[in-house]
Amino acid sequence: MEVRSIAYFSMEIALHDEIPTYAGGLGVLAGDMIRSAADLKVPLVAVSMLSRKGYFYQKLTPDGYQTEGPVVWNINDHLEEMPQRTTVNIEGRQVHVRAWRYEVKGISGYRIPVYLLDTDLPENSDRDQTLTNWLYGGDSSYRLCQEAILGIGGLRMLNELGYDHLNRYHMNEGHASLLTLEMLDEQRATAGRKQLTSDDIDMVRKKCVFTTHTPVPAGHDQFSVDLATRILGRHDFAEHKNIFCCEDSFNLTYLALNLSHYVNGVAKRHGLISKHMFGHYIIDSITNGVHAATWTGPAFAKLFDLHIPGWREDNFSLRYALNIPSAEVWSAHQQQKQLLLDLIRQQAGVDLKPDILTIGFARRMTAYKRPHLIFHNLETLRKIAAQAGGLQLIFAGKAHPNDGGGKELIHSIFQAEEELKDLIRIVFLENYDLQKARLMVGGVDLWLNTPEPPLEASGTSGMKAALNGVPSLSILDGWWLEGCIEGLTGWSIGEDAIDPEHRLDGEKDVHSLYEKLEKTIIPVFYQQREQYLNIMRHAIALNGSFFNTQRMLSQYVLKAYFG
Ligand SMILES: *Cc1c(COP(=O)(O)O)cnc(C)c1O
Repeated sequence: MEVRSIAYFSMEIALHDEIPTYAGGLGVLAGDMIRSAADLKVPLVAVSMLSRKGYFYQKLTPDGYQTEGPVVWNINDHLEEMPQRTTVNIEGRQVHVRAWRYEVKGISGYRIPVYLLDTDLPENSDRDQTLTNWLYGGDSSYRLCQEAILGIGGLRMLNELGYDHLNRYHMNEGHASLLTLEMLDEQRATAGRKQLTSDDIDMVRKKCVFTTHTPVPAGHDQFSVDLATRILGRHDFAEHKNIFCCEDSFNLTYLALNLSHYVNGVAKRHGLISKHMFGHYIIDSITNGVHAATWTGPAFAKLFDLHIPGWREDNFSLRYALNIPSAEVWSAHQQQKQLLLDLIRQQAGVDLKPDILTIGFARRMTAYKRPHLIFHNLETLRKIAAQAGGLQLIFAGKAHPNDGGGKELIHSIFQAEEELKDLIRIVFLENYDLQKARLMVGGVDLWLNTPEPPLEASGTSGMKAALNGVPSLSILDGWWLEGCIEGLTGWSIGEDAIDPEHRLDGEKDVHSLYEKLEKTIIPVFYQQREQYLNIMRHAIALNGSFFNTQRMLSQYVLKAYFG
């Protein structure tokens, strides 16, 4: 058994195109973090869920309504079953848990083991067998059962597997924070006591690290104390109210905050917002990144290999992209654009044109992301497109099955497509996933992001675009507050301001978005190509070299793991 000192827990993780154990940004971040840990040989082991049916497979009706089905995949093609078993006590039943192993291999061959937990065992009841089926599925009781399996089952499984040198437990979001309860119980049992003491709490805090990922209140899991008592079989919630509870609910974010010695948000602004949200906790920030080699498309990877040898080992060296000749940047970009257009022809049966300014927008379809903002005034948009000689828009993204508003947003994009089709080509790609994300961020001319501030904790797809020289046009929120140098790495929409009155309908933001497109971006793209290429190079050199998980993981190592 390899010696590991850090355990990384995440409800979702994007490991491979054919392994559907992720829903979106959080899972992709977890996967990218592990890929960088393998590159940098950080002695880490990861724990996540098997999610047999994935998050869901998205299909869209001809008028743009989402339907959900299971993702079909072959577990045995990718994972190795481990012989060890453990159990978790849920609602008074012993639920049996097994683990499947996946290995992430780094540049020099170092491997990080990832264990995916699974309850589909004949010893379990029919219902318990389904507990690891759907990522973020079911009701709140299903969710808490899953969280018990991840946190408590995950920790016990690591013990069974023989990882006995662990001294850091990193909770990627609050979903995993029940592991702290198990650690407290272990401490108490080892000391042969019935009561928890403040020493137990100090011991656990020393070992735990917590990263919070969302300023949206619904993103923080909380449960009634009754439900938590019933499912977890604990009766000490009231007694330890100061650690376990907040007001009247059992809140997994507060649990993690109370039991971690290091807590961070995922961008500078998000760290500050989190501090305001949670009051008296010390909350640092480590800005997210993406795994550079994973998100750089094939033509740019070739270009970097030629001009910046060693860029995969040392992402900082991407700053030398400033010296790559424009003609080569343009040619790599056009090659990757063609790959995207080929996919669109195959999937959607639409022929987009390689020489027309093409804008990409792909992320979770939910109200605060405002995917329809660009369609706020169709007449203005028509006018802008006519002047430009055309405009093409590519959308993708899933709405959570219970998010009716998010589903309506997808439908509204289909309606806009119908209304604008004489002038603007609009395509909505079904079932956004890793492969589609790679082609989109690598193949559009401009990456658009229009969230309602301050709700975008970080955002990472714009970082993926930057690695491919694709500039962003984005609201100043999340990572873009750090990454935007106006007119040099991309463009901002609106100002850095949070206005409680008006931003959801976004009158001012829309005005700014149209103006930037019409007066700046379109003229530069069509008439000052050399300047556009200069911006593309700066996106790589200034943002690709920094907003990557190699830099991010180094900061976790310094501040959280060995700090
Ligand atoms: C990167 C990525 C996301 C997250 O994108 P954001 O910009 O953070 O919203 C979601 N889904 C997939 C498939 C991705 O690759």
